[in-house]
Amino acid sequence: MPIATINPATGETLRTFEPLDAPELEGKLGRAADAFLHHRRTSFAQRASWMSRAAELLESEKETFGRLMTLEMGKPLQSAIDEAAKCALACRYYAAHAESLLADAPVETDAAESFVAYLPLGVILAVMPWNFPFWQVLRFAAPALMAGNVALLKHASNVPQCALAIEDLFLRAGFPAGVFQALLIESDRVAALIEDERIAAITLTGSEAAGRSVGATAGKQIKKSVLELGGSDPFVVMPSADVDAAASMAVKARTINNGQSCIAAKRFIVHDAIADHFERRFVAGMQALRIGDPMDPATQIGPLATAQIVRDLDDQVRRSIAAGARLLIGGRPLERRGNFYPPTVLVDAPSGSPARVEELFGPVATVIRVRDLASAIEVANETDFGLGSSVWTRDDAERDTCIREIEAGMTFVNAIVASDPRLPFGGVKHSGYGRELSGLGIREFVNIKAVSVAAAAPDRPGEMTRRSGDATE
Ligand code: NAP
Repeated sequence: MPIATINPATGETLRTFEPLDAPELEGKLGRAADAFLHHRRTSFAQRASWMSRAAELLESEKETFGRLMTLEMGKPLQSAIDEAAKCALACRYYAAHAESLLADAPVETDAAESFVAYLPLGVILAVMPWNFPFWQVLRFAAPALMAGNVALLKHASNVPQCALAIEDLFLRAGFPAGVFQALLIESDRVAALIEDERIAAITLTGSEAAGRSVGATAGKQIKKSVLELGGSDPFVVMPSADVDAAASMAVKARTINNGQSCIAAKRFIVHDAIADHFERRFVAGMQALRIGDPMDPATQIGPLATAQIVRDLDDQVRRSIAAGARLLIGGRPLERRGNFYPPTVLVDAPSGSPARVEELFGPVATVIRVRDLASAIEVANETDFGLGSSVWTRDDAERDTCIREIEAGMTFVNAIVASDPRLPFGGVKHSGYGRELSGLGIREFVNIKAVSVAAAAPDRPGEMTRRSGDATE
């Protein structure tokens, strides 16, 4: 992929960037490694003051950052502005809580003193996607920098100006040079970076294919990795639900970010008893969405981020129809300039068809009718993914069954799945491993060190007192 800003609404190439050459990349790696030596010893108070300043800049410049995101990847402008503001929340959350989340945690044992210490790991490489070009980066960077790590960002090739703007944001916030750097490089140079001994760990948010590749290289190098990958989230609606509310939120859940969200609901699993009602409301809601220029405040659905995504989505819809799915609305790219694909609803997709098992990264919904809760859960679990899930019911027993039985990293009840700095975010199965956000997120990239201090015997100093449990692993 060329490293370039190509306006998805027009197809026009606005700016191209030369990838870093080998000496430039070497310089940045060296600077990161040097910066870690100092950054790991800075106080939480110092880091918090820089991170709070980053939050202020995100808030005061959210319009500018929002415009940049919309220009490079096409999300509606207001949602881009909201994304910049949400990044400030994550910065503030970790500025306020990192110290307590990483405080030495005493443990009672037979030793005189035992505790768990959380120590920074070093230079963390972050490989990030374009779909939330600020949020994905900030939700990794805020905890990582607060923990005393330093970061190198390899952002998606279609959002280079967002990558540079985030680097500049951290510098202006006061973080020393080298603590956060963007690397304008192609993805085929990531493996060599992971192999570099100065890289301590890797986080990747992106597709399953990228996850497999990065996870395999990290595994070979025995380096910690976190993978936040794709999803095909189920949205289950039972007869006890408020069906109108569910249908209206279903439209939002499927089309947020022009349908390009890992946690967008993609499969709508609806009980037979209310399926006609739900489908009518849902289709009407999808049809009513305004498609257009993402910079226009009235637009609800902008272009997809790249021409390739439109081609891939079109192919998945065609293959689903060939397998037996029926099209209710949409179903082919719009004949206009830019990467526009309309809201689309498929029904009767047979199990195993692309709409049932693959991730459709655009505004295409699949409605699947089921006869009872057990079949709903079976369908919910039929993909290899396991990221989020949304369940609509007013029945406590149904709610509890869904929470226990749906194979997903997140279950939201009578609400659509959303990230929140206070809650862990991540998936199971092929949606990846590890967690971001919350206390669990900040502990992904630390050395969780067990410390045990034996009481020195006063008359024979230095000799270890033997206790039960000594000399075992
Ligand atoms: P992608 O093609 O996998 O790209 C993501 C990042 O990985 C980009 O920086 C890309 O660089 C790089 N990359 C691609 N292939 C690579 C490889 N073999 N080795 C190393 N790096 C590689 O994904 P995307 O199209 O940008 O994003 C959409 C995907 O991300 C969807 O599947 C979505 O569900 C997932 N996602 C998951 C989460 C989550 O939290 N679970 C959040 C957002 C998105 P280039 O741009 O240079 O190719």
